[in-house]
Formats: sequence, structure tokens, C-alpha cells
Amino acid sequence: MATLSPILKQATPVIVDHALGSWIYATDGKKYLDFTTGIGVTSTGHCHPDVVAAAREQVGKIVHAQYTTVMHKPLLELTERLGDFLPSGLDSVFYATSGSEAVEASVRLARMATGRPNIISFHGGFHGRTVGAASLTTAGTKFRSGFSPLMSGVHIAPFPHAYRYGWDEETAVDFALKELDQLLASISSPADTAGFIIEPVLGDGGYIPTPAGFLQGLRERADKHGIVLIVDEVQAGVGRTGKFWGHNWAGITPDVIITAKGLASGFPISAIAASTELMGKAWPGSQGGTYGGNAVAAAAGVATLAVIERENMVQNALVRGDELRAGLDSLKGQFATIGDVRGRGLMQSVEFTAADGTPDAATALAVQQAAIPEELLLLTCGPHGNVIRIIPPLNVSSDEIQAGLTRFTQAL
Ligand code: PLP
Repeated sequence: MATLSPILKQATPVIVDHALGSWIYATDGKKYLDFTTGIGVTSTGHCHPDVVAAAREQVGKIVHAQYTTVMHKPLLELTERLGDFLPSGLDSVFYATSGSEAVEASVRLARMATGRPNIISFHGGFHGRTVGAASLTTAGTKFRSGFSPLMSGVHIAPFPHAYRYGWDEETAVDFALKELDQLLASISSPADTAGFIIEPVLGDGGYIPTPAGFLQGLRERADKHGIVLIVDEVQAGVGRTGKFWGHNWAGITPDVIITAKGLASGFPISAIAASTELMGKAWPGSQGGTYGGNAVAAAAGVATLAVIERENMVQNALVRGDELRAGLDSLKGQFATIGDVRGRGLMQSVEFTAADGTPDAATALAVQQAAIPEELLLLTCGPHGNVIRIIPPLNVSSDEIQAGLTRFTQAL
């Protein structure tokens, strides 16, 4: 008899029978309010009828056609549809299956395009678990320790985390940009630096919005030195923050956008978008994988983008996100263990700290566990595990937000 690997340690004892919208129906007969969305994946809610119908229809036509052998219609349609949401100029799209693979593809593209070896990522960033992506990741030691050597040519620069430094945002941005300039003037000169990779909101690193001024500073430096600016929108993209892309909050245009997770409401597909000129620096065969751009996942992606638009889900994420945030902010004064409340749109979080301000992971874990009998599913994150992240579907209702806040308060 085989058993599941202990690596698959579950955060909750829940076994899902089926799910719909914001709700998970478990085999124990309970109905859980799902504020985890499979880590920000089921963007249109569980089993949105349009997404299910599109996938069902596609399964009957063709499930898999390897995209370097024959092309299939869903990927062409997804590319056209995605084009409506991409900044002008980022008109070339490449597909993979997971976020990590897309991160790897973006790094490879930046290196191939510039002929330079180094990639600079930022403290607290999470970019995935393949060896290359883990090398860029500093959202927790568990993601990068025990299997070194990691990929070479990676430098980690400070992230402007105002709350952690106890500074205002402007000071934190000035500090982090100066540190970056220092890095570029010393161990990773522009002539050696292929790319910057950054999340618009740190995800696993603790749901920390990247200040607009910092993204603008990266854009300026990327332009000045011919460095490729890669924005990892795997968790923050596709409407999650209340704008279609997380970087829209900063008014910049990246050189490469990485997307995955919410793109197909739970079907595995990821993409990178860049200009045709930049994408042309990688040659056929240098990127990709057997399952990349799967036909059923692509059909689900087309349906996902259509319902996000038709049902105004990006706007809903903004409005419901404000409601959620107001509720969380009001808890801050009531519970001394809450050190910070932050996020953007429907990507909100609560950081727990001890009286002296040090991270309090035990309380975050206890709150997550206490939420289970309240039939509310939550996830922890952050380098110290002391942050609870709240990630409802983009079409969550106002009543569901209020129900979630009531259950969260009970758990606290
Ligand atoms: N990048 C970001 C910002 C992520 O949040 C994640 C996953 O959580 C990844 C990359 C890696 O994606 P995947 O787990 O699909 O490989």
C-alpha cells in the first residue's frame, strides 16, 4: 500500500468532495468558505459554469497537441484574448505549464537577449521551486536550503519593506534604490546584469505591495542600463489586486510579464509576454515543455478572461478588497497581536507580531487552525510564517466577505 509523501503536509485536515464559487464542500459534510483559492488560482471561483463548459467542450475535441508540432485553436484564441489585456508593445506570448517554468523562461530570455549572466531579485521575493526559480526566491529558507548549489549569477537586493524597517514608504524606497545602485556599481555591474525580477505585491514573502516609486526606479535603471525588467505577476496578476496587472498601480510597463495561477481558473497554464523583438532573441527549442500551453487549459483560459470581463471581476476585486481591508483594519486595534494589515484588492494580509515587534508565527498558525472549526480556510505566508493571507475569488460577494470577517474574528 502506498501513502502520500510527508512532503505533502496539509495545512488543514479538509478533504474536498466538490466546490462551487467561494465554497468548498468537504467529505466530512462541512461547507468551508474558501479564502485560499488554491493559493490564488481559482480566480473566477470554483467551477465557474462557463469555465467548466469550455473545458468540457475542449476535452471532446483534443486534450493535448504539442505546440511545437501542431498548433491548436484554444492557444491562438487565448493569445488574441490576452492581447486585449497586455500593454501595447508586449505583443508576443510564450506558454508553459507552471509559474516556475515561466519564471525560468523569463530568466533564460533575459540572459539570451543581453548575453549577460546576472539576475537581480529582491528580498522576500517568491518565484517558484525549480532550482533556477528557487535561486531567485528569498521568501523563506525552506524554499532554498538543503539542495545547494543554487543557480549562479543571482544577486538579491533589499526590498523597500517600510513596515519591517519602521520607516515611511519614501525612505524605504530611497534606501532600497540606493542599495541597488550600490550593487550595480560593485558586484553586479550593468554590463553583467541581464534582468531584474520583482513581484508587484510580494506573495509568499508576506503580501507586501511593492511601492510604485520602487517599480518606477527599477524601470529607470532598466532603461538606462539595458537591463530586462521582468515583473512576476503569477500571484498578483489577472485582476487580483483590483487592476488587471499588479504593476498597473505603478504606471510602468515591464519588458516581460509573467502570468499563471488565475489565468485559467485552476487549469495549469502559464505565460510570458514580451515585445516581438525581445522574444525573438530566444530561438525555437530553447524554451518550452511537453505539456506547455495545454489545449484544455488554454480553452479554460479563454473562458476565464471572458467571464472576468463580462462579470466585471476586476472592479469587484477592488470594491470587495476595500470592504475586506476595512474589516481587517478595524480588527487591528482590537487584537494586540496584529502588527500590520496590508495588501491590495483581494490580496490582503494580517501580520502577527509579539509585543516587541518580532514575528509571531505561533499566533498566525493558531488563528489559521482556529478558523477551521469556523469553516473558514486561510493560509499563512511570509519568511517567518507569521502572516495570514486572504485570497478570495475575484467574484466573491459582499455577504461572503462579511461572513469571512465574522469567522476570522471568531478565530482570533
Ligand atoms: N511566482 C510567484 C509570484 C508565485 O506566487 C508562484 C507560486 O506561488 C510562482 C512564481 C511559482 O509558480 P508555480 O508554483 O506554479 O510553479
